[in-house]
Amino acid sequence: MKAKPVSFLESVDLYFNRASKALKLPKGLARQIRTCNAICEMKFGVELRGGYEIFTGWRATHSEHALPAKGGIRYAPFADQQEVEALAALMTYKCSIVNVPYAGSKGALKIDPKQYSLKELEHITRRFAQELDKRGFLGPGLNVPAPDMGTGQRTMSWIADEYQKLHPSDINAQGCVTGKPVHFGGVEGRVEATGRGVQFGLKEFFRTPEDVKKAGLEPGLEGKSIILQGLGNVGYHAAKFLQEEDGAKIIGIIERDGSLLCEDGLNVEAVLQYKQEYGKVEGFPQATFSSNGAALLEYPCDVLIPAAMEGVIHQENAARISCKVLAEAANGPLTFEADQIIQEKGIFIIPDTYLNAGGVTVSYFEWLKNLSHVRFGRMDRRFVEAQNERVIELIEGAIGKTIDPSAKEKLLEGPNEINLVRAGLEDTMREAYHEIKAQEDENEKIHDRRTAAYALAIRKIADIYDSMYL
Ligand code: GLU
Repeated sequence: MKAKPVSFLESVDLYFNRASKALKLPKGLARQIRTCNAICEMKFGVELRGGYEIFTGWRATHSEHALPAKGGIRYAPFADQQEVEALAALMTYKCSIVNVPYAGSKGALKIDPKQYSLKELEHITRRFAQELDKRGFLGPGLNVPAPDMGTGQRTMSWIADEYQKLHPSDINAQGCVTGKPVHFGGVEGRVEATGRGVQFGLKEFFRTPEDVKKAGLEPGLEGKSIILQGLGNVGYHAAKFLQEEDGAKIIGIIERDGSLLCEDGLNVEAVLQYKQEYGKVEGFPQATFSSNGAALLEYPCDVLIPAAMEGVIHQENAARISCKVLAEAANGPLTFEADQIIQEKGIFIIPDTYLNAGGVTVSYFEWLKNLSHVRFGRMDRRFVEAQNERVIELIEGAIGKTIDPSAKEKLLEGPNEINLVRAGLEDTMREAYHEIKAQEDENEKIHDRRTAAYALAIRKIADIYDSMYL
């Protein structure tokens, strides 16, 4: 008889156990870190369409070694408590890996947002925000949600506005959620952040000769073939930047209705436009469509980027995966069994706990902006530009020539918000890449990047617990 497949939550716990075994920790501490501290199921009625509808939502605070606890809110018809717990745990490890001083949290509402009008969604979200607030799961110093699957900037604005109404004297109220629109306390670059982080993470991989060699590839992203699953916010931005800025070739895209394949490369922007116009990718010109989308996960390519759901690579299809690098843009795309099979095949995994941490990293920047009540670059931009101008004048005077105007423009530019956010994110992703690698290089019990990433997170959290009096 075949063993029952492990669930998402079990996979996360098994990854954790594999890593904690490689570390020396005080008795019971690993268990304390792994355990979800609090989970609340909320059932609340909303007056809709001439009657009442009952909704079920959850918020889990996985850990409280740092505050606030941070993580997205998902709106999905398949949401359940175990999924929320697994995602909250991933948030704890993710924040620790990229040195973002938060604990992990996650929320979900069991709803198919497509079945409701905007007005209705606003009403439901405001009611959910009230429930979260009432139970201590919302607040700039306590618990700070963000967008996830099925939610976005608008959802976050409603939550922020509801929180502000409930706490009119809280001067930091805007920091109760991140992922808000820029005109409502958001930060430039948050929408693209997770995809941007995937790009920076992959660039760092291709800049690390030892890892590139392990994967059987040549350095540099130029011309590398990529298959992407999921053209949502994360997948779209990652693929777009990798194509337009790094010269990678997106040969395949898997969407809800099927997959597109084109060996010469698909234009990501054009595919998105098509999907938005027709609600599907079938019929996109100059590409081969297949209604069996999942089969394209197995097609040979340099980099496979699952950017949709958890558990898409499992014990049934793992042995047939034929990429060289598996870049986990989604949360938990591989089950524990699949992870073992993929490793045996020698495929290099860049794990989710690192690779998709760009979202929460820029959320952290947004929260800092909210607490400081000032836009990044507001104080120093003109000052730096004036200084740069003086330096250029001196250089021009010394060489007796004027500098080319377009080069001059670039040299003059002072720090603005988008540039600072991107630079801060790039620095975060590059540093964390090497912190994880060092963990693998220095611990003889660790032989893969996921275990190294978990071990790094556990080590850092254990150090915090160690200096606390429980
Ligand atoms: N939902 C995103 C994630 O899974 C972002 C979380 C955040 O920004 O707090 O990482």
